[in-house]
Amino acid sequence: MMEENGPHNALGELPDLLIPPHLLPQVFDLLIGAWHPDAAQQQQMEAHLFTCSSCRIALITLLCVAEEADQQAGTPNAPAHTLRERWITLHCRLEQQQVQKEVKES
Ligand SMILES: [Zn+2]
Repeated sequence: MMEENGPHNALGELPDLLIPPHLLPQVFDLLIGAWHPDAAQQQQMEAHLFTCSSCRIALITLLCVAEEADQQAGTPNAPAHTLRERWITLHCRLEQQQVQKEVKES
């Protein structure tokens, strides 16, 4: 029988998204407009987001919050909405690829 609340969880060690190579602090700064990455930095950030589902989910969550704030402020054509849709689509696609890869490898 499986032990509940045991010391080992199936997910293994959870990543600390505040510590590099994860970039939750940068994502947050970007969304509040405190960080303006140049093209190279943006590319670097996207490269990590493509490979790290934890940061992707964090980004999507933050975009949901940003979109909600935009809506409350009555901001038309809020960029958070477009970005959120883009990343959710991308996230689903990447997750699907990951699942297919795992099926092939097993
Ligand atoms: Zn990450």
